[in-house]
Amino acid sequence: MSNQKYTAIIQCCCSVFLLLLLTSSGCEKDDLEDQSYISFEKPFWVLLDVEQVPTEEQQAIRLNLESELEQYYTPEFLNKYLTKVYVYSQLKDLFIGSEFDGTLHYSNLFIKAPGNSMHHELAHVYHMKNRSLLNQQAWEDLNTSAISYSSSGVTYVATGGNSYDNLSYDSLRRAGFFRHYSTSSFKEDYAVVCEYIFSKDFQQNAQLIADINSKYPKLKAKINMVREFFEKIGLQEPAYLQQSFGDYK
Ligand SMILES: [Zn+2]
Repeated sequence: MSNQKYTAIIQCCCSVFLLLLLTSSGCEKDDLEDQSYISFEKPFWVLLDVEQVPTEEQQAIRLNLESELEQYYTPEFLNKYLTKVYVYSQLKDLFIGSEFDGTLHYSNLFIKAPGNSMHHELAHVYHMKNRSLLNQQAWEDLNTSAISYSSSGVTYVATGGNSYDNLSYDSLRRAGFFRHYSTSSFKEDYAVVCEYIFSKDFQQNAQLIADINSKYPKLKAKINMVREFFEKIGLQEPAYLQQSFGDYK
């Protein structure tokens, strides 16, 4: 799949406090524990302008997402970091009208199907709960002065991008960023690396993997920092990473 096609998959915003308004007495955890992680229902709070997935498409989406979860995360890991994945055809910010592909509220994910946003949003959750185990300063030291984070994912989506959007993918990746959205903030840069790591499109993109090994050492360093972070939090890395990028220590 081409870079353009892949990189168009996900836009995300994460500071959901602006987006989510609690309007009910809340969700009862016990009610959820016997259910699947995947839901097509509206959550207990009014948050976004959502378009429901048609009923006839729901089962295929459910099986796909559940398969993705089972492939990469143990039940123990999911029980620790995930409450529910709410899936919609369209997600739109009620206040500013911007469309995006995923967001989260604590350990509840809200994603647009299909796409890789489930892994991206879940990566935010396990980072939020383990911030001290990923060295933000060392990560940002990899960046050059030519590109500095513009502000936040929310601002990037709300304003339709930032001043780096005209850069080529080659320029971006030489500077250590997978795609333009990565330049919005450290948190998004990290989550996009996770999103790629779990993406089947990336895993099968031999050319991009070869380019990372030969032309994009900063990007490789970020991937390896994420691999080390995974080990610290007890998340087994996908097997292809060792073969593709070697040892990271
Ligand atoms: Zn994000």
